[in-house]
Amino acid sequence: QPELSGDFATLMGWADSLRRMKIRTNAETPLDARTARKFGAEGIGLSRTEHMFFDPDRILAVREMILAENEAGRRAALAKLEPFQKKDFVELFTIMSGLPVTIRLLDPPLHEFLPNTEAEMAEVAKATGTDQLKVNHRVVQLHEANPMLGHRGCRLGITYPEIYEMQARAIFSAVAEVSKTTGETVMPEVMIPLIVTKKELDILKAVIDRVAKEVMDSTGVTFEYMVGTMIELPRAALKADEIAETAEFFSYGTNDLTQTTFGLSRDDAGAFLPEYQRQGILEHDPFQTLDQDCVGELIAIATERGRKVRPNIKLGICGEHGGDPASISFCEKVGLDYVSCSPYRVPIARLAAAQAALDADTVKRD
Ligand code: PEP
Ligand code: MG
Repeated sequence: QPELSGDFATLMGWADSLRRMKIRTNAETPLDARTARKFGAEGIGLSRTEHMFFDPDRILAVREMILAENEAGRRAALAKLEPFQKKDFVELFTIMSGLPVTIRLLDPPLHEFLPNTEAEMAEVAKATGTDQLKVNHRVVQLHEANPMLGHRGCRLGITYPEIYEMQARAIFSAVAEVSKTTGETVMPEVMIPLIVTKKELDILKAVIDRVAKEVMDSTGVTFEYMVGTMIELPRAALKADEIAETAEFFSYGTNDLTQTTFGLSRDDAGAFLPEYQRQGILEHDPFQTLDQDCVGELIAIATERGRKVRPNIKLGICGEHGGDPASISFCEKVGLDYVSCSPYRVPIARLAAAQAALDADTVKRD
């Protein structure tokens, strides 16, 4: 386990005394969460729950859930996954001991969860007692030409609300358990991915609120929580005022926001981006350094519109740019509350946030 010590720790302390923005981490495993805390993370800004499902002891149930032909089939598979999810959240809340934890509900590019081989399809058929031809047919049915723009994020929650219902129950049961055993206040922030309309958020927030109430009633533990959204598509940025009527926080997902603003695939850009940089068409790789001109303008617009409707809306960034010093400087100028980055970038982010506060003259004075 890494540790910051000696002169480096002193330097970081000086940086912390200057910076205004909080530094959180992107983490879904206990190891990442612990590492990030040792590096000084002040919470989790993004926990990608889909990453929790690739474990060999869970992926079969995930496939059963995705391939199920009806709600009863999905619920049966979700019931197998729920104890795993609850355990994941108990661990994260315990490690973060009272710091804020943003948990993003499932956002899978669907193809990553589908069985790929005959053997994997046979496994699903056996587990569900289904004819294998039926399973094969369902896989073909679910195939998408463009999964990154397809049945992802909240779209999955809208079509199959029982998925988000299970995740919300796992989150809130974990909150109740950790509050009871540690006596600490746990403050989860439930985050919905890929929102483009307020209506989507309203529908899904209603599911989350209902489940929160059910868990409070059944456990006798009352707790607070927030419901917010990723802003990661240009339409959501432009509609931030409407969305802020429901969302209590925004987290800028600059990976998808860059992809969709440029119309540039995150997965395929490597084939030609170096040539674009060589010819001077793009100065930087926009997936590494925020394109302040346009992606930045969308963030600035969303920030202004969101704050107009909800002046205290909590604002952060959780795309890759949250760990890049030039992008962090932009986040300071636009007035975000925190940046969230991978664990090993937390120290850099602490320094960059301090430098950004000095440059913008927003240094903490307390
Ligand atoms: C993003 O889009 O910036 C983001 C953080 O979400 P993901 O990378 O998981 O799509
Ligand atoms: Mg995204």
